[in-house]
Amino acid sequence: PGVPELEALQHEDVARLLPVPGAESDKYRRGVLGVVAGSARYPGAAVLTVAGALRGGAGAVRYVGPAAEAVIARHPETLVHPGPPSAAGRVQAWVVGPGLGDEPGVEEVLASEVPVLVDADGLRGLDPALVRARPAPTLLTPHAGEAAALLGVTREEVESGRLAAVRELVGRFGATVLLKGSTTLVYGPGGGPVRVNPTGTGWLATAGSGDVLSGLAGSLLAAGLPAVDAASCAAYLHGLAGRRGSGAAGPVTAGEVAGGLGAVWRDVCGG
Ligand code: AMP
Ligand code: MG
Repeated sequence: PGVPELEALQHEDVARLLPVPGAESDKYRRGVLGVVAGSARYPGAAVLTVAGALRGGAGAVRYVGPAAEAVIARHPETLVHPGPPSAAGRVQAWVVGPGLGDEPGVEEVLASEVPVLVDADGLRGLDPALVRARPAPTLLTPHAGEAAALLGVTREEVESGRLAAVRELVGRFGATVLLKGSTTLVYGPGGGPVRVNPTGTGWLATAGSGDVLSGLAGSLLAAGLPAVDAASCAAYLHGLAGRRGSGAAGPVTAGEVAGGLGAVWRDVCGG
């Protein structure tokens, strides 16, 4: 019997995979996430990535970049670090790219020995050789346009062949890929079925919601989840938060998606 082409995580699967702290936990064991995001032009991307990260269960979030003031104003829990990522102290994973513009940091983070999630501006011109050489997992989270640019095809070609596109990206980069869109797909170098996220909603198609997803998935990487599980659990929770983040059906802001994640964790994991 062949391996099925697709699979969808169910509530119980996500509950089993999500890291819930026990009596032995401390903030370092829960995972410290480094975030390199935001720019003078897009400070909000840094704020929203950190919002997703804090609600993703990391024990602490370190922020590196030019939007520290905005990040602290909205999330005083954040540890902010002037200087390059290497000056930030130990982290168990990095997120790099949301709203980053031309700010530096991508190559330095990719040279680290911990898992790295690359999104948005971090994906621009990303060198497959650099990613393939990494000693730790890499998770790429493109939308269709970013995937098209990485593959050198049109956005329409990605949209009309999303399964092929996600597999092709995994093959080229030797990384796990979360391809965003109306049906979010997750696939990794380990092979097996492509994971299709069952919780998506068109209300997530709103500015900044991808940044929240990056922080959330990054937090799960920092907690030690394998990249495919971190990505698919993050997409699952993000979709549910998109449905109820505003407390009612209908339009939701990216900030409300992040704010809704606490209640979504409770629904999925209990307690
Ligand atoms: P980004 O493109 O980086 O802003 O991220 C947008 C987020 O919204 C991703 O998590 C997408 O998967 C999600 N999204 C966008 N459009 C849709 C849609 N039509 N249905 C469900 N989710 C969507
Ligand atoms: Mg985005």
